[in-house]
Amino acid sequence: MVKQEECKYCNGTGKQTCYSCSGAGSKIEVNLVYIPIFGYALPETKICYSCNGTGRTYCPYCHGTGKS
Ligand SMILES: [Zn+2]
Ligand SMILES: [Zn+2]
Repeated sequence: MVKQEECKYCNGTGKQTCYSCSGAGSKIEVNLVYIPIFGYALPETKICYSCNGTGRTYCPYCHGTGKS
C-alpha cells in the first residue's frame, strides 16, 4: 500500500480557509454614502467573491486532492 501524505497546507481537506473573509463566507462592507434620513452609512453584508460564500477556497498546493 502506497503511503500518501496529507497535504500540510490544507490538512488533507483539499480546501483552505478563505483568506479574503477568514472563512466567514461574507464580508461586511461599509458604503461611504451619506444617508440624509438616517444620518449614517449602513454597513452592508456581501457574499465573499473569493469563495462564493462558502468560506473555503481550493487548495493550490495539492490541487484540491488533499494529498501531497
Ligand atoms: Zn471568502
Ligand atoms: Zn492541500
